[in-house]
Amino acid sequence: MTINSKLFVINKLDYGTLYAHYDQVYSFIKNHLMLEKRKRVAVKLNLLGPLRPEQAATTHPAVVGLIVEILCSFNCEVMLCEDINSIDVIRETGLLPVLERFGLQFYNLRDYGYKDIEVNGVTYQYSELIYTCDVLIQIPKFKTHMLTNYTGAIKNMFGCIKKQQRKETHRLLDENDFANALCSIYSIRIPDMVIMDSIVAMEGMGPSNGSPKHLGNLVLGADGVFVDYYCTKMTGFEVPKLKTLQYAIKRGFSSFKSEAELISYCNQNADNVVELYRIPVYEGRERDIYLSVLRRLYRIDYERCIQCGTCKEVCPFSAIEMEDGTPKININICKLCICCMEFCPVGAIRMDVKSK
Ligand code: SF4
Ligand code: SF4
Repeated sequence: MTINSKLFVINKLDYGTLYAHYDQVYSFIKNHLMLEKRKRVAVKLNLLGPLRPEQAATTHPAVVGLIVEILCSFNCEVMLCEDINSIDVIRETGLLPVLERFGLQFYNLRDYGYKDIEVNGVTYQYSELIYTCDVLIQIPKFKTHMLTNYTGAIKNMFGCIKKQQRKETHRLLDENDFANALCSIYSIRIPDMVIMDSIVAMEGMGPSNGSPKHLGNLVLGADGVFVDYYCTKMTGFEVPKLKTLQYAIKRGFSSFKSEAELISYCNQNADNVVELYRIPVYEGRERDIYLSVLRRLYRIDYERCIQCGTCKEVCPFSAIEMEDGTPKININICKLCICCMEFCPVGAIRMDVKSK
């Protein structure tokens, strides 16, 4: 289904039937990207941690396989990439068979250097590989997020800055500052194409503790902000309250210059809204109460923990101490920035809740 020249949505999909749509996806990619032999195409995935595909937290390998096959048919140099903490991530997320099938290597962003880029007076240490590629395709997983409400194309570029700087950015407790930082990072290298994996999305306590929700959609767009807008609107989010998305529109990172323009395309498809269970957008005092409740549910799974100390190292607020090799979170200091959850190499830090 073509929404406009910049957005193409295939619906009623599951991962097993994806290949039946090869020709449609091929045509959209061919028409929007000038792909020629030997072009260096970076494909930025969303690999949050060593989580299995059925947990719906990471880009599904079936989507990656389809896109890689199409790119290989153009004889491009395909660089599947993400910033990951351990090789376990490649194995658990099901990516290994895709790499083997196409004879590709995986590019861990942290191994390929960083470049200083200034945006609005802030210098970001930004992935050299992403910055210098000829074409950038992003394949995020569409998920709810317990702090930023949703995660999609804009948020997925956060992984392009250096680990240490992500830790510092997590210190920005003001939601507006954090949303603006995400937008600045997104603006450094705006993807040439975003392919949102919302075939099975995550609802509830995302980005890693929610529940899978079958939406059946693969959303392809040359405008990542539009892709995020469409996905959030079509899953019942209160879009005007999504700070990251609003700042991205305001700062002109979309080819649409106003929200009204974006809405009109979504309204044409209003019959297809499938609501995701999500945390309300809390602000002010309500948000403080919400965070204090969440903090009490934040847990380390000691059966999984390998006592590596990464969580202590990355905590921007020194809220974690190692006691006899075991990490302990001091909830009186913890600001719930979820930096430790993001960096734990074995996914041992979790929110002790059921989404529904
Ligand atoms: S919780 Fe995770 S990051 Fe922290 S010590 Fe254990 S394994 Fe390492
Ligand atoms: S312990 Fe709390 S403040 Fe420290 S990284 Fe984890 S969530 Fe953030």
